[in-house]
Amino acid sequence: MEQKLFVYNTLTRKKEEFKPLNPGHVGMYVCGPTVYSDVHLGNCRTFISFDLIFRYLLHLGYKVRYVRNITDAGHLEGDADEGEDKVSKKAKIAQLEPMEIVQKYTVDFHNVMQIFNSLPPSIEPTATGHIIEQIELVKAILAKGYAYEVDGSVYFDVEKYNQTQDYGILNGRNLEDMLNNTRSLGGQNEKHGKLDFALWIKAKPEHLMKWPSPWGLGFPGWHLECSAMSNKYLGQQFDIHGGGIDLMPTHHTNEIAQNVACCGKNPASYWLHTNMLTTNGQKMSKSLGNSFLPHELFLGTHPLLKKGYSPMTVRFFFMQASYRSTVDFSNEAIEAAEIFYKKLSEAAKKLITLQQAAITNVDDDTDKAINGYCDDCYTGMNDNFNSPKTLEALSNLSKWVNSYASSTRNSGEITAQTFERMKKTYNDFFFDVLGLKTEDGDNADTDELMQLVIKLRNEAKQNKDYATSDKIREGLKNIGFQLNDNKQGTTDWVRI
Ligand SMILES: [Zn+2]
Repeated sequence: MEQKLFVYNTLTRKKEEFKPLNPGHVGMYVCGPTVYSDVHLGNCRTFISFDLIFRYLLHLGYKVRYVRNITDAGHLEGDADEGEDKVSKKAKIAQLEPMEIVQKYTVDFHNVMQIFNSLPPSIEPTATGHIIEQIELVKAILAKGYAYEVDGSVYFDVEKYNQTQDYGILNGRNLEDMLNNTRSLGGQNEKHGKLDFALWIKAKPEHLMKWPSPWGLGFPGWHLECSAMSNKYLGQQFDIHGGGIDLMPTHHTNEIAQNVACCGKNPASYWLHTNMLTTNGQKMSKSLGNSFLPHELFLGTHPLLKKGYSPMTVRFFFMQASYRSTVDFSNEAIEAAEIFYKKLSEAAKKLITLQQAAITNVDDDTDKAINGYCDDCYTGMNDNFNSPKTLEALSNLSKWVNSYASSTRNSGEITAQTFERMKKTYNDFFFDVLGLKTEDGDNADTDELMQLVIKLRNEAKQNKDYATSDKIREGLKNIGFQLNDNKQGTTDWVRI
């Protein structure tokens, strides 16, 4: 079946048919994490959403080059060139090298992504690995007259750019409106205009990560890396650029300005943005105490959570909403997702061994309905990756699978061809497209066994036999069990 995929493009503010620049090939860039602290759940949702998109494009047969960067330098505390570099600040507090911070949180990020069963991107470039490319880009923008240097820093001249281009093309706002709504921020005495942003920032003597450049020792502005790296790996123009909606007004707006200034082209045909997470209807934020880290959610250790939820339940929970909708966390909502996930997961397990009995009498209505549900799996995803619609179709298929697998089956028979199509569609969407896995149920025996292992490990720790306690912890992790260490010792565990 020839599939027509439609995507919502933030740039045009409408749903459009997806037509890649080179037929059969897709170039996709997604802004990755700044690796200075534990990845928060909102970020996880963004990357899981783009994992779904990546997986569906692969399923449709596209050859996809998916680039997701790691920001390991240049991201200041404020998005408008104010405050300290996030990685450097953390390094100073922890008395570590910035690259130790980067290494720790990059490894942690990869682990979390793997726990959520997200595929790695095709290329994962780092900002510090592309300083030369970024300097070249600054030089090109300077040469085109859209930037200026002040005392070792280089700024992008937004007002000049807007004379011939539309700076607010992505967020749909005009320059005057943006100027009126912008506070005066860092580097303001050097900037010609309030909206100007740094391409290159002069490093103060105490700044930890700095590089020589034609303008002296400094470091790149945060927005620059994505322009430089997308350009390098995907070319001046590619198909999809994605990220969280919070990146759209400033980071992505500035990325487009940089690319147009240097190369005369908006880099991406389709700009896709994921929405935010809320808790009980309120925006998730550290200061409100209503945001949780992935492991708090798995172990149920956050005060707002009644219990822990498996990574696949959380992934499923995200899939129950379109990536463009907000997702609201509540115990009731995620418990409902857990039940729904288990239902679809049980059907996936049954399907592995389900064999069709000899067909005696094909029921046309059932046969037609099953084919319709298989089509619906595609209809959902083709409609801007609408995973809830696809889950509904899988749910309809699962009812038939359960009925057919039970001895008291009350569904009509289907043709061998429909049976095979149903099996393949269910497997393709549950495992490959939605990226779900089945989980083996943990029974009381497993918990008893784990409590025994935890007790032995606690004893090893009390005897200061840390080699053994580490060995137990790592060994368990390798086979999919994570222990929850807290002040009282270790009391709990979770499957990862
Ligand atoms: Zn970016």
